[in-house]
Amino acid sequence: MKERLVCLFELSLYQKMSISQQEVKSLVAFDGFYAQDDYCSHCKQNSVFQIGDNTPKIVSTGVSPRQETSRYNVFEKNQKNVIFDKDFHLTNTFGFMLKCSKCGRFHVYYFYYDFKSEEIIKIGQYPSTDLKSKVHAKKYKELLADDYDEYITAIKNNSVGVGIGAYVYLRRILERLVEEAHQGKKVSDDWNEILYQKSKFSEKIDLVSDIINDDSMKLIKSLYGILSKGIHQLSENECLNSFNVLKTAIELILDEKLATIEKNKKLIRISKELNRIRS
Ligand SMILES: [Zn+2]
Repeated sequence: MKERLVCLFELSLYQKMSISQQEVKSLVAFDGFYAQDDYCSHCKQNSVFQIGDNTPKIVSTGVSPRQETSRYNVFEKNQKNVIFDKDFHLTNTFGFMLKCSKCGRFHVYYFYYDFKSEEIIKIGQYPSTDLKSKVHAKKYKELLADDYDEYITAIKNNSVGVGIGAYVYLRRILERLVEEAHQGKKVSDDWNEILYQKSKFSEKIDLVSDIINDDSMKLIKSLYGILSKGIHQLSENECLNSFNVLKTAIELILDEKLATIEKNKKLIRISKELNRIRS
């Protein structure tokens, strides 16, 4: 059931998930431990939010998420019970109280969905699904520079159910990564620019491969193939289903670049220190 809960939180708007009515009921009555990283609007920083034994859950109480949050934090902090309308599925809304591990405040997460016999389509979520991704994305802002807006657009597209559009923006980020490597190779004496310009993109990746980390290179190659297939052949829903995996693969490449930059900075600093000690 925990996997179902993860899916529910990560589902994009208008994305479908097969689920039985019984499973929906079990989800609402979820009594295990669940945690996720998110941005806390109260602490103004990333935190871990959790549902656990001491975290109550609420469902369909008929007030807005904001009202529910303040009401809960002020008056009902110690109540542990699950409150929900037995016909919750008819209201098409349910929510969970998650507790921020840093400030201890409860935050409500509401889901609005259209429930048909064996299927859920998410039609709304509070807070928005892309907030977490946008906060997480900030660490790549400097590295991505002009491409940062495209990265955010990919996340936004995915969160509102525009799967193919999201792939277009992810592919553009990959193309820029290869272009950056190309600019690095162009200054070598033995570089063949005419060959590069005549090559297909998959061949271009090979031509610049020696200045990109091996693991990143493998990821770039397989990502480019999947993203291109997605743009030309897959449905919106198929693209949405795989977006998070592809985004994480791109982030692995970016993390590798950040680690290299950090390592070089450290090397320069330590070399200076060593020279100072030696002299
Ligand atoms: Zn907090």
